[in-house]
Amino acid sequence: MECIFCNIAKKKVDAAIVYEDKDIIAFKDIHPLAPVHILIIPKKHIASINDVEESDAGLLGNMIIVGKKLAKDLGTADGGYKLLFRTGKHGGQEVGHIHLHLIGGAALHEEIRPLNVEWERK
Ligand code: AMP
Ligand code: ZN
Repeated sequence: MECIFCNIAKKKVDAAIVYEDKDIIAFKDIHPLAPVHILIIPKKHIASINDVEESDAGLLGNMIIVGKKLAKDLGTADGGYKLLFRTGKHGGQEVGHIHLHLIGGAALHEEIRPLNVEWERK
């Protein structure tokens, strides 16, 4: 199994872990984009949001709850933050094991628009 995030979940690869329960683990992003940048992952391998099943609804809900708790613990709840799943090539997903980004601790760029300027708002 050559999935880096599975290996973090199994403690075969080091990470700065900030939360863990039986299904979920959260750790600091190795290349933080902001003062708070945490990745919240399920311990079980799910490649992308495209691969999520209805039976995963509780797991995904719990990942959001972990995001909320960590935002408070890390002092960014009041100021605000983003919880973000990138999905696939256009979404900018680089690691093929779903991860919920918690990004905060500073005012963040709004930018989520397409790179391609041919797109027009209807
Ligand atoms: P994404 O582009 O949404 O797939 O995000 C992948 C994120 O994983 C990036 O922000 C990387 O900096 C982060 N990342 C990759 N490898 C590691 C690692 N070994 N430990 C912590 N974060 C990592
Ligand atoms: Zn994995």
